[in-house]
Amino acid sequence: MFTTIYALATAPGRSSVAVVRISGPGAGSALAALTGRPLPMPRRAVLTKLRNPKTGDALDDALILRFVAPASFTGEDVVELHLHGGRAVVTGVIEALATLPGLRLAEPGEFTRRAFENGKLDLTEAEAVADLIDAETTAQRRQALRQMEGALGKLYDGWRERLTRALAHIEADIDFAEDDLPGGVADAVRPVIAGLAGEIAAHLNDGGRGERLREGLHIAIVGAPNAGKSSLLNALARRDAAIVSARAGTTRDIIEVHLDLGGYPVVLADTAGLREAAADEVEEEGIRRARDRAARADVKVAVFDATTLPDLDPATLDLIDRDTVVVFNKTDLAKAADLRPDLSPIAVSAQTGAGLKLLEDKLTAYSADRLAIGSTPSLTRARHREALTECRESLLRALEAPLPELAAEDVRLASRALGRITGRVDVEDLLDVIFRDFCIGK
Ligand code: GDP
Ligand code: ZN
Repeated sequence: MFTTIYALATAPGRSSVAVVRISGPGAGSALAALTGRPLPMPRRAVLTKLRNPKTGDALDDALILRFVAPASFTGEDVVELHLHGGRAVVTGVIEALATLPGLRLAEPGEFTRRAFENGKLDLTEAEAVADLIDAETTAQRRQALRQMEGALGKLYDGWRERLTRALAHIEADIDFAEDDLPGGVADAVRPVIAGLAGEIAAHLNDGGRGERLREGLHIAIVGAPNAGKSSLLNALARRDAAIVSARAGTTRDIIEVHLDLGGYPVVLADTAGLREAAADEVEEEGIRRARDRAARADVKVAVFDATTLPDLDPATLDLIDRDTVVVFNKTDLAKAADLRPDLSPIAVSAQTGAGLKLLEDKLTAYSADRLAIGSTPSLTRARHREALTECRESLLRALEAPLPELAAEDVRLASRALGRITGRVDVEDLLDVIFRDFCIGK
């Protein structure tokens, strides 16, 4: 039914080991063609010479590993060639595979898609494979692993089972009724549906925790020109990412760095200095973008130049809200002690590094508060959020339905919405979109 696919599974480029993966009914014969020998025992690594079957050209002394369907990642026959990671080795093997009949290069995400289509993974687990590969921090890894092990899928499948039972109850009521039943959902089923609608509402109302953890918490540094925003970003990033200049208005576009704060992913942005009267259109646009970024950020760091105290830049003061960390910079030049305790400022010097640890700890605490994973798994994608919202709306409609027949239809819709998240029902149209973002060999 499926063709046999192959791809380099490790990152391209020179490395000590490179793995080429082959999956499909022709995997075994492809291996035999490369080795010229009988197939090794499944799941036992064997060191073997590989040759181009057409030319006899020696390709590598490789460690080979074979899995027999259905006991493999994809559920098909799978062969892994652990090669020496030289470019010519990998190219030689890929070219040799291309000459074999019935084999073709895999599409992005095709291995994982086959694992899904063969029932090895549900869709949330397949998505988690991509997240695990993209994970850059400890918390991201934990979330991806938990989802890959099925935590999210199990939650949704459990909900779906409850709906199936509720539906059976409603349908039985319909069948046994002599005439049309008065009212909608029977009292016995009501609490089940209302309870689930409540659980879904709580699950949705999580501040976007799981999605945020995948993308990183957005922190924007704002302040007047020359307050030391770029210096602060560089100090926190421990490298020169943004241009530091004594000339005001140097940073005009947004500069982002990705940080790992105590295991949490953060996207820290430097923005153009706020100023009432911009010097030109370019600066004006920079200021517009700075305000926009500040408005969308999860947390703001408002930087003030301590040498101007007690005066504080009014445009920056204006942006302070409960999600703002106030920083008095350049405290190597000026004392900021005891000024404006109402703003709970952190006194730092981007130049000497004084106070930066305190600021980092504060931002880490914010990240932990917003991103820490709880005892139940969080939804991690807009796709999940949309389906759950639809599910909940259907449940609420079911509770209001004037006839049990209509309630039954709403519960069916709710159940289908849940089934689409895990991929249990009509998802054909979704698969291309979901797996398109995977890389080749995954
Ligand atoms: P921005 O416009 O807010 O991004 O400010 P910059 O980071 O470009 O800094 C403006 C000027 O202030 C530069 O000359 C920096 O070297 C200087 N500066 C920044 N932070 C400090 C600090 O903590 N102490 C001192 N003495 N100078 C600083
Ligand atoms: Zn700057």
